[in-house]
Amino acid sequence: MHKPLILIVEDEGSISNFIASMLASNGYRFVKAETGQEAAAMAASHMPDLALLDLGLPDVDGIEVLKQLRAWSDVPVIVVSARGHEREKVEALDLGADDYITKPFGTHELLARIRTALRHSQRRGGAEPLSAFVVGDLKVDYDKRLLWLAGKEVHFTPIEYKILVLLSQHAGKVLTHDFIIKEVWGPYANEHQALRVNMANIRRKLEQNPAAPRYILTEVGVGYRIAEE
Ligand code: CA
Repeated sequence: MHKPLILIVEDEGSISNFIASMLASNGYRFVKAETGQEAAAMAASHMPDLALLDLGLPDVDGIEVLKQLRAWSDVPVIVVSARGHEREKVEALDLGADDYITKPFGTHELLARIRTALRHSQRRGGAEPLSAFVVGDLKVDYDKRLLWLAGKEVHFTPIEYKILVLLSQHAGKVLTHDFIIKEVWGPYANEHQALRVNMANIRRKLEQNPAAPRYILTEVGVGYRIAEE
């Protein structure tokens, strides 16, 4: 079986070793880069299946590495960022990063993000569009344009439905506020307030406890993510 190859871009030896041993014991192969320049070269020479990209590198900003990479490659990229750097996470996502993880992170969290990103990149390979999205008791039926919760139909406005379809088509992935607004309201919209209101309404209809949501997760300062499992 093909073991996925992960490029670890990280200048702190202790973190890079921690990630490497975690990957090795979970069925992945890895290569390591410590600088942005090294990262760009290794992405081209090793063609990894996924890259973990630290944004704070000694030579160039990780954001620059991402930009260069996206000019020729759609390899899944998970950005590794420090707590409190929400704007840089948003920028990375809008520049084509697939996900981000905040330092310090645990083994379970990192492995889950890697699995999700790898699954999405395999799906991009021209699979048939799904006719429905199912997670827990929630089912979004794209063919019939209906939503079901524990077998009962739930009514949504056209905007709420559009938001849910968008999130579910990127399940497991965080979508930035700006991305959702552009996709739902159009390229010149600035509907941050409307997004908040619609999201609150969706949650009221879906979540048993909107304060501890099961389906739609808030990524503070960044966006929203729909649960995948
Ligand atoms: Ca660093």
